[in-house]
Amino acid sequence: MAKAWCTDMGVEVTSLAIQIWGGMGFIEESGVPQHYRDARITTIYEGTNGIQAMDLVGRKLGLRGGTAVLELFDTMAAIDAELAAGGSELAEIRSALADALATVRTSVEWTMTNGLADPRDALAGATPLLRMFSLAVAGWLMARQALAAVSIGGDEGAAKLSTASFFCTQWLPQVHGLTAQVSAGAGALMDLSAEQLASH
Ligand SMILES: Cc1cc2nc3c(=O)[nH]c(=O)nc-3n(C[C@H](O)[C@H](O)[C@H](O)COP(=O)(O)OP(=O)(O)OC[C@H]3O[C@@H](n4cnc5c(N)ncnc54)[C@H](O)[C@@H]3O)c2cc1C
Repeated sequence: MAKAWCTDMGVEVTSLAIQIWGGMGFIEESGVPQHYRDARITTIYEGTNGIQAMDLVGRKLGLRGGTAVLELFDTMAAIDAELAAGGSELAEIRSALADALATVRTSVEWTMTNGLADPRDALAGATPLLRMFSLAVAGWLMARQALAAVSIGGDEGAAKLSTASFFCTQWLPQVHGLTAQVSAGAGALMDLSAEQLASH
């Protein structure tokens, strides 16, 4: 997740930088495209992100019979009580994180169950699963930072709290839109026969 999701985000952030600069962002002389190109390779080397996603599904989810991943969900869910005690400033983050964790846990459990039945169905959803799982972990880390920010207070605390709120309300809800993709199965990906594949 640290490798694949962060590099995917690097590509999105540098692409967004081009967009913000408008036409000038596309022009080499502005220097912006070089940032995009430098970020783009990171999703390919050190294990392509597609392979990292299949590693997550094929090797990591099954660690210690699945208990390693389920323990992580329990750890993440345990922050709810701290967020509740943190007051109204944290209410938005708390609710977005609880919803996201429930959704992602359901998809992870679907993959664990169906991966045993037919690995092709689990692997077909590996990339969206990696994305939604990473978003959930990042949301949890943002919530931890929000807790620290509230206790620090001041301008620095307020800035970090807004960053965490932005992430949890604007980015984290993406997980809900990824569930159908995770569980769609391999059917549409495997529609071509061996003969058709050979002729492509
Ligand atoms: C600038 C640069 C620097 C590099 N530096 C190094 C270096 O220092 N040391 C080094 O060892 N290597 C280096 N590499 C090589 C790099 O590790 C490979 O490019 C990378 O591992 C991907 O392999 P590939 O290019 O053969 O792509 P492929 O393996 O052909 O992959 C192409 C696409 O197919 C997907 N894919 C592959 N197999 C499967 C599968 N079974 N199921 C589904 N999808 C699949 C991949 O995810 C990818 O999207 C470098 C590459 C570049 C471009």
